Amino acid sequence: MRLLIFGPQGVGKGTQAALLAPHWGIPHISTGDLFRANIAADTFLGRQARTALESGELVPDGITQGMLADRLNEADAAQGFLLDGFPRNPEQAEWLESMISGTPGIDAVILLTAPHDVLVQRALQRGRLDDTLDAIERRLGLYHQVTEPLLRYYGSLVEAVDGDRAVELVHQEIIGRIGDRTSVH
Ligand code: AMP
Repeated sequence: MRLLIFGPQGVGKGTQAALLAPHWGIPHISTGDLFRANIAADTFLGRQARTALESGELVPDGITQGMLADRLNEADAAQGFLLDGFPRNPEQAEWLESMISGTPGIDAVILLTAPHDVLVQRALQRGRLDDTLDAIERRLGLYHQVTEPLLRYYGSLVEAVDGDRAVELVHQEIIGRIGDRTSVH
């Protein structure tokens, strides 16, 4: 099972992905989490990525893709993965295609939605180090301008789910939708 989870910052991608990945026995791979772990450990990669994370800009594709390639090449990702926070622009989407060529490809794209003010409040509440109001607004803007248009690229693979509800409800709806989809194959 190869899944992507899309949605603006604060919509609950990380929460849902952490519940969904064990359900299907696949690793939850979050590029944001990988960057934060590198920053916390003060690695060379972390030092390259830190400014972008603090300001809410995208880390350059070469750095992001290099880091993700290493992760996707680990044994646990061979049979599938749930990718959270990648791809974020058309170049990354094309790179991912070439990275997984030779496999059956992406099975489904989960899209979580919620109103703008709910997103800002949620992002502020979680109080992550990189969650200043400026960075949050910049990430939301980038999401709408650069990342959201990618959904057209994935077309009928996209399953849109209302993320502005209780965690468990959202979780069950995603499982129902994706379960239906894969049973059709
Ligand atoms: P996230 O945890 O997905 O909200 O990501 C936090 C930050 O990590 C983003 O604001 C970017 O600075 C960086 N980041 C995460 N994923 C990517 C990506 N696919 N491309 C570039 N930068 C990324």
